[in-house]
Amino acid sequence: MSVKIQDLIPAMHSRFEGIQPDMEIDNVSIDSRSLQNNAGTLFFALSGQNRDGHQYITSLTEKGVVNFVVNHIPATATGKANFFVVDNTLTALQDFAIYYRNLYNFPVLVITGSSGKTIVKEWLNYMLSPDYTIIRSPKSYNSQVGVPLSIIAINERHNLGIFEAGISTTGEMEKLEPIIRPDIGILTNIGPAHDEGFANRLEKIREKLKIFAHTKLLILQKNAEVEAELNPAIKTFTWSFEPGADVLINTKHNNGNSILSVTYNEVHFDASIPFTDDASIENAINSLMFLLYLQYSPATIISRLSGLYPVELRLQVKNGINGCTIIDDSFSSDYQSLKIALDFLEQHKTHQKKTIILSDVFQSGFDADLLYAKVAKLLASHNISRVIGIGEKISTQLADFPNFYPYKTTQEFLAHYRAKSFENETVLVKGARSFRFDEIVVFLEEKTHETVLEINLNAVVHNLNFYKSKLKPETKIMVMVKAFGYGSGSYEIAKALSHQKVDYLGVAFADEGISLRNAGISTPIIVMNPESSAFAAMAAYNLEPEIYSAKELRAFIAVAQQKNLSNYPIHIKLDTGMHRLGFEGYQLEELIDLLKNNNLVTVKSIFSHLSSSDVPEFKDFTLGQISKFDEWSNTLIQALDIDPIRHILNTSGIYNYPHAQYNMVRLGIGLYGVGNDETEYKSLENVGTLKTIILQIKELPVGESIGYSRRFRTSEPITIATLPIGYADGIPRRWGNETGYVLIKGKKAQITGTISMDMMMVNITGIDCKEGDTAIIFGKDPSVVTIAKALGTIPYEILTSISQRVKRVFYKE
Ligand SMILES: *Cc1c(COP(=O)(O)O)cnc(C)c1O
Repeated sequence: MSVKIQDLIPAMHSRFEGIQPDMEIDNVSIDSRSLQNNAGTLFFALSGQNRDGHQYITSLTEKGVVNFVVNHIPATATGKANFFVVDNTLTALQDFAIYYRNLYNFPVLVITGSSGKTIVKEWLNYMLSPDYTIIRSPKSYNSQVGVPLSIIAINERHNLGIFEAGISTTGEMEKLEPIIRPDIGILTNIGPAHDEGFANRLEKIREKLKIFAHTKLLILQKNAEVEAELNPAIKTFTWSFEPGADVLINTKHNNGNSILSVTYNEVHFDASIPFTDDASIENAINSLMFLLYLQYSPATIISRLSGLYPVELRLQVKNGINGCTIIDDSFSSDYQSLKIALDFLEQHKTHQKKTIILSDVFQSGFDADLLYAKVAKLLASHNISRVIGIGEKISTQLADFPNFYPYKTTQEFLAHYRAKSFENETVLVKGARSFRFDEIVVFLEEKTHETVLEINLNAVVHNLNFYKSKLKPETKIMVMVKAFGYGSGSYEIAKALSHQKVDYLGVAFADEGISLRNAGISTPIIVMNPESSAFAAMAAYNLEPEIYSAKELRAFIAVAQQKNLSNYPIHIKLDTGMHRLGFEGYQLEELIDLLKNNNLVTVKSIFSHLSSSDVPEFKDFTLGQISKFDEWSNTLIQALDIDPIRHILNTSGIYNYPHAQYNMVRLGIGLYGVGNDETEYKSLENVGTLKTIILQIKELPVGESIGYSRRFRTSEPITIATLPIGYADGIPRRWGNETGYVLIKGKKAQITGTISMDMMMVNITGIDCKEGDTAIIFGKDPSVVTIAKALGTIPYEILTSISQRVKRVFYKE
């Protein structure tokens, strides 16, 4: 981003008062904590319920932030920065987004409707990402602040936008429309959700349609009620299960899949999706319509639809106590979502016996008798063995339902809860947020792994995209998943990235590559430290060796001959100054002799490794490495008359020396959320969070000692907690003895005394917590960067030291 202050003044309808009116803005922030304090950052002082951005301005100016949007200039900051003074800073953020949106003119799709928006967005992103560079709103980010922020994230590389717009009351769409300014729309459906904010259904329809004010085309299920309200200038592209729409769909079920028979303009084809519930079918059809609009061939549509996957939104499946399976949907309770959850429960055939724990159902537009009669009918049709109803309404309304157990409140249920009464069954926990059914889920969940390393796979994708944004679109990416994906799980990382245009994976040893292949990963893999004993296995598993010496090359050629290989891809490593592995300049002649006229192997790539791409004082040395690489690789290319991929940059190289990206880069630590540079680091999302729980709490009087060798003595009464994690899990012992801390209930608890093999004690004096509560060993805070700095090591070592006995849990937001 690069926007001139002079252009922004009128765009935000602001009065400018400042010291550097000729600057350019390259970045926007609304959060003083996560702000990247570049000179080009523009801080919007928003006022929320709990905080007012204006109170941070003075301290931000001291940190070097220069540009602010405010509704008044704080006296202490006057004359120290650039201020855009506006009436309303939120409106100014939206005006900024409107201005910024207008700088781009690639197609933008907006998705609205009562349900399915996020799923359709995620599915389209998945199906179109092989062909488009897509900007989309993250998660279900559809608020008045979220939409502007996601628009502001557009950059030059994007060529398709997919945004979702959700509203809960009137007046909101009008504000979102000029920000998103969509060319094309999808209306997923108009259901009863959020009726509360509208006078009636017609008002809700009219309000939703406002987002399409300037679209040329709207995709929707044929619906006379909606189409009557539509501006006649908007073309529609409709589908229906009945003849009469542009696209006719018939569905049938087959072995857990649904077959969608599509008829469109004389073309007819069948596509299969791995879902059978009505909501998924509707979402898949809406997604398919957009692919038809983009003129994808039936063959491509069939292949892409077959890969659709569940987007985790609400329904989460968890292992429960006593052999139970828990379906956790503790966030909403309206009739529509109850139906979806029950469909899901029915498909989950793990257990015969099914229990639902259900709160009052919230649904406007029906009186209670009618609503609960419908609920009872729905429950009866899904063969539920037992219904536990929690709430004033449901406990009386469903009183006559067979096997019904009423409770007035969640607390009353928990007071009577017996773990024994849940056994070998599927339990659907479905309640409105206000009922706090998450507290019930805590009891029902199996508690085996107290210590886990949680890996956020969305963050991995975010970080990949951050580095991609620094590169030319055609530059290939190799992702380093060596050392068990820097401790984060190589298979899951590779799998999560398999839809993200990653060209190569890098592992250290052949066996790491073999396990990826066995797990079904088909991306090309380079083995960085191949041992000649593994060459035959590598050929069998389609793993490509790094070749770093003539001796190794001869050995590989011998295996290639023996196995009748031809043109087997190899990767030539040059040693330009790291002095670890690789050919040096004087060895090139021998290499050329070996490779010339040899058709057993083919040089797929030539590469080298920078020793100090993260150390600014070695810039000259690094540039020297790059120029040696340039020269030597050119020598090989000319002598052998080849056109290989060339690559030299690792994470910090991408950040600091993007001019040397050649045809590929090798991304490692940055993917896992660690940047070696402060600003780079702030653009990344945290990937790994190491968590454990409090096993025991103790009150200690003055004069007691804690842990081995009595290294800590209490000089005042303190409260300590014992955590079941120690140096055998990979926590450095030096992090103990008052050096390090863990986070409990958002507060720092210092590690007191020596860290034991499997346990450590922390000081929780003044922290309101209890046994069983979570303690964060590292994550956002403390970060592995903080720990590494304090201990004089590097984050790489901390991450890769976490023992394999710590269970990794992968999740997507
Ligand atoms: C580990 C490794 C990388 C990745 O380095 P990061 O600093 O983690 O990005 C790149 N290339 C080679 C040869 C490596 O061994």
